[in-house]
Amino acid sequence: MVHAADLIRKAVMRLAWHSGFASRSRARLGGLGSIIMLHRVRPDCTSPLGVNRSLSISPAFLDTILVSLKSEDIELVSMDEAVARIASGSKGGRRFAAVTLDDGYSDNLHHAYPVFQKHRAPFTVYATPGLIEGAAVLWWEVLELLVAKASFIKAPNGQEWRCATMFQKRATFHALMRYFTETLTELQQMPVLREMCDAQNMICGVAADRDVMNWKELRQIATDPLCTIGAHSVHHYNLKRLTPEMVSFEMRQSADMLENKLGKRPHHFAYPYGSVRAAGDREASLAAQEGFVSAVTTRHGTIHAEHRAHMHILPRISINGRFQKLVYAKTMMSGATTPIANAGRRIIQA
Ligand SMILES: [Zn+2]
Repeated sequence: MVHAADLIRKAVMRLAWHSGFASRSRARLGGLGSIIMLHRVRPDCTSPLGVNRSLSISPAFLDTILVSLKSEDIELVSMDEAVARIASGSKGGRRFAAVTLDDGYSDNLHHAYPVFQKHRAPFTVYATPGLIEGAAVLWWEVLELLVAKASFIKAPNGQEWRCATMFQKRATFHALMRYFTETLTELQQMPVLREMCDAQNMICGVAADRDVMNWKELRQIATDPLCTIGAHSVHHYNLKRLTPEMVSFEMRQSADMLENKLGKRPHHFAYPYGSVRAAGDREASLAAQEGFVSAVTTRHGTIHAEHRAHMHILPRISINGRFQKLVYAKTMMSGATTPIANAGRRIIQA
């Protein structure tokens, strides 16, 4: 599927790179470095409607990125090291890149891990215990499978969506995303999705090879010193839509479960969804209160010395599956796109 907005973003990034703007910006806007955000890493991106394609990159592209970072003398660091550098505001040193992966997909172990090993590159996986134990599901993927299969979907409140043609399916998927994230509460999402799946004789889940790592697999990857395990909440709820008590519970309980299963308490947190609509000042202070040393968002930006005072609302550079070209990744990491994405601001606050 071709998005008009994607074409414009790609054109702007190509122009920024080829005109030399990105490399000129790097000293001023590239800051101390970047925290890179990935989700799935797998050779075959299976997204029947194309709507979740942005979440997957290939292992070959991950390799290309790591080769490029090293060739530019950018140091690949862990989140502990990234935090230490932000805290000291060390300018003049080499720029850093910390690679992070959200949700804890099993492809991280099978396809991304060998690439990290090859480059001796540290990486952080933000794991979600509820997804591991079945208290939550990768609902955005289940929703895609549901819409791909069904020709008609009815919500418990009687609302109906047609999805017979590919055009209708894509429109219905986006309408249902809004229904799930705006109309339903976070706690209603799972029961409603289950009901919709039952009506189509579908299991409310994804195939094992597309799911998250189980505890055994997570332990396996966590034993490598290259790997840091961070927490990503228990249920993958949008924290801004919960009470403060529930937010604290999601943070503390996910850290407790990871510590219990892996023998080490996570010090870093990633907000589920992570946009301005999912994480702000309140969530940042709760993450600090719960003892995390850093918390990352999905907001776009490079890291600067000023982030020392905003350690619990750090921006990242998302490597999008629809933008798998080095020129886009390099342009974003130069910092050239940060002011464009954030109305001219270099430091993004809640
Ligand atoms: Zn997530």
